[in-house]
Amino acid sequence: MLTDHDRRKQISVRGIALVENVGNIKKSFNRHLHFSIIKDRNVATPRDYYFALANTVRDHLVSRWIRTQQHYYEKDPKRVYYLSLEFYMGRTLSNTMMNLGIQATVDEALYQLGLDIEELQEIEEDAGLGNGGLGRLAACFLDSMATLGIPAYGYGLRYEYGIFKQLIRDGWQVEEPDDWLRFGNPWEKARPEYMLPVNFFGRVEKDGEGKSKWVDTQVVFAMPYDTPVPGYRNNVVNTLRLWSAKAENHFHLKFFNDGDYVQAVMDRNTSENITRVLYPNDNMFVGKELRLKQQYFLVAASLQDIIRRFKSSKYGCRDVVRVDFSTFPDKVAIQLNDTHPSIGIPELMRLLIDVEDLSWEEAWKICVDTYAYTNHTLLPEALERWPVSLMQSLLPRHLEIIYQINHLFMESVSKRFPGDFDRMRRMSIVEEADSHGEKRINMAHLCIVASHAINGVAALHSELLKSHTFHDFYEFYPEKFQNKTNGITPRRWLLLSNPSLADIICEKIGEDWITNLDELQKLKEFADSAPFLESIRRVKQENKLRVAQYLEEEYNVTINPSSLFDIHVKRIHEYKRQLLNILFVIALYNRIKENPDLKMVPRTYLYGGKAAPGYHMAKQIIRLITAVGETVNNDPIVGDKLKVVFLENYRVSMAEKIIPAADLSEQISTAGTEASGTGNMKFMLNGSLTIGTLDGANVEMAEEMGMDNIFIFGMNVEEVEALEKRGYNAGEFIEKCPTLKQIVEQIEGGMLTPEEPGQLKDVANMLRHHDRFMVCADFDAYAKCQDKVAETYQDQKKWSRMALMNIASTGKFSTDRTISEYAREIWGIEPNVEKLPAPYEGVPGTENETKE
Ligand SMILES: *Cc1c(COP(=O)(O)O)cnc(C)c1O
Repeated sequence: MLTDHDRRKQISVRGIALVENVGNIKKSFNRHLHFSIIKDRNVATPRDYYFALANTVRDHLVSRWIRTQQHYYEKDPKRVYYLSLEFYMGRTLSNTMMNLGIQATVDEALYQLGLDIEELQEIEEDAGLGNGGLGRLAACFLDSMATLGIPAYGYGLRYEYGIFKQLIRDGWQVEEPDDWLRFGNPWEKARPEYMLPVNFFGRVEKDGEGKSKWVDTQVVFAMPYDTPVPGYRNNVVNTLRLWSAKAENHFHLKFFNDGDYVQAVMDRNTSENITRVLYPNDNMFVGKELRLKQQYFLVAASLQDIIRRFKSSKYGCRDVVRVDFSTFPDKVAIQLNDTHPSIGIPELMRLLIDVEDLSWEEAWKICVDTYAYTNHTLLPEALERWPVSLMQSLLPRHLEIIYQINHLFMESVSKRFPGDFDRMRRMSIVEEADSHGEKRINMAHLCIVASHAINGVAALHSELLKSHTFHDFYEFYPEKFQNKTNGITPRRWLLLSNPSLADIICEKIGEDWITNLDELQKLKEFADSAPFLESIRRVKQENKLRVAQYLEEEYNVTINPSSLFDIHVKRIHEYKRQLLNILFVIALYNRIKENPDLKMVPRTYLYGGKAAPGYHMAKQIIRLITAVGETVNNDPIVGDKLKVVFLENYRVSMAEKIIPAADLSEQISTAGTEASGTGNMKFMLNGSLTIGTLDGANVEMAEEMGMDNIFIFGMNVEEVEALEKRGYNAGEFIEKCPTLKQIVEQIEGGMLTPEEPGQLKDVANMLRHHDRFMVCADFDAYAKCQDKVAETYQDQKKWSRMALMNIASTGKFSTDRTISEYAREIWGIEPNVEKLPAPYEGVPGTENETKE
């Protein structure tokens, strides 16, 4: 088996890159250990070596970063601003080395220094500033925007605590705070000189001419931290700017004057709490005041920054007495990653009208032409609807502006559909009072009205937005609705995470696929080449062995590396139906118990994913999975036919390890509930086959690879709707299917948790009486499909051919394609794939000064 070191050496021999000289890297590493880390090799710990290495690699970004920003300033192209409450970046070190093309050189340098680079890479904490797919998408977009040379900026929040660390204790999820900055973050640069004020609370004052002023506010400062975002070997380095809350310096001066100085200093915490922690909910709206503060904090700081950059842009309007904002949308595109940053809409209106003195009509046109909105979910519980009372107290002027937007919008609806009051009620941005007398602001409606483009994230999802969720709006503004099918970056999710697969692909078709994933089509030529199929199988086997070894070391579990690796990793959510999967595992267990001599394809089930801390049923599902593991793994009759492992703390760095080892990928959400999914694409790219429903991007994956190369089962959207209409009764399906009936009774009877038989009664009760996502209705089809999977797996040649067809069909699912479409069809810019010149690596300060 090749070590990573050997493999990268091979790659470098083939000429991917050996740009930097090994001796210089060693010198730089030793200098950093001495001058930055202030240690010698007698006392340095592996973490010290990690930081010395990170600093060494970072040095290679600096000139490229400065030069890229200079280049943007000189050319003054239209900028793209990607606003997101989440950027799920994972680790940075290895990705940076890959994109700079210095991986092989650094590898060799560390090897010569007697250090284990893989051990050092493992020390880096994931930047877990996201929950799941939405945040990871933002990270993949940054990679593609830099690789495509797009003048883009990510704007987000620098949470002091990212997504919690998940522990499994006695089979249950326990949360621990993610103190990811404890040892410092070598990838960020604080920019205190660009700190900006953000206001909250207060009231609105009108002057004689009816002009509004937001006064008596409380101020919190936003301190920017910049992280470099390198493109793939093109010398482009874009910026991710994350804001951190800082208390005002004369904060609570009143108390200070009263003499309570210590209390005044302690109270600084309250305002600095704004960026303390990421809300850990995936696909779920929680209407907390602190969350709304976070959202406004992000957009208020970002918009000031964006307007400052616009005003000082070279050919824009620098040095002009009265700035011409009518060109703003020609220079600025703002993409809203879901409605989370949507309070930026009234904020831009406020800045243009109250601060820059534009008329409502001028401001409105600029706003609509600048903003675009991406919808990420159809689930009603995920749609943001903020209580009016909360907004009234926290952001009174914004509420006023939203009311005015709605007033004008309702006028235009009523003009188009006179007397259709029901339609007006359905489309209103301000909803009618609910049963508690609470009025709410529907943020998705606000986004649709105030943006020039709204897009879904997969073809099916975008169609459902038009036909269901936003049907009225589609009738009103058909031209605004678009689709932009999600993707993943092939750099992180193949080249970096699966180097041996990347290697055999490069041997066959060269390296162009890395930045043009459609090139993988060329692999179809080898679909009947026995040696190539064998090499795909061999690479998969190596990856499986590696994961088996990892599980042995980290979790003390022994798995059968020649078994079928069936992997279900993603956030735990009822709609994602981890439950459907584990019910079938119980069915397999029952089969073995009934017939201990049963010949079956041995399977290893790997599950991973976090449950939102307040999501009771998701936590029950985790407990069910661990309980099945305890039962199955310790039953001597089962032997190595079946193993069930719940992987603790699933996150980006674990996805990179686990996904390359998958034989089978579980993508089994109820049709019509998963907007796109991106995990599905990562597995496909790594040559695992998919068992899935016709949901989200699975539909397009099946289209690309052909139905022969994917295991599709269960109800489609129309069938789900028909069943809903007819009246769904889970009990009917349970009665009809003896296998399922037995399983539900076993869960009820406490078979899996004999020490506390009632532990999982809520799951059984849910299945019988509140099976909202129709697990019971799809169970039989799923079981039959899984049997077909096992049968297919016995024909290894056929399986490998299907795997190859999967890999070769992934071209569409590169974020390079996704971003090119956003660029041309929403932002009105052309991606520029030209490289920037390699920078001068000599003494800094001998070049032009930087201007942003
Ligand atoms: C890709 C990814 C996700 C999204 O997975 P889905 O299966 O699309 O829900 C979630 N978490 C992590 C860590 C990921 O890398």
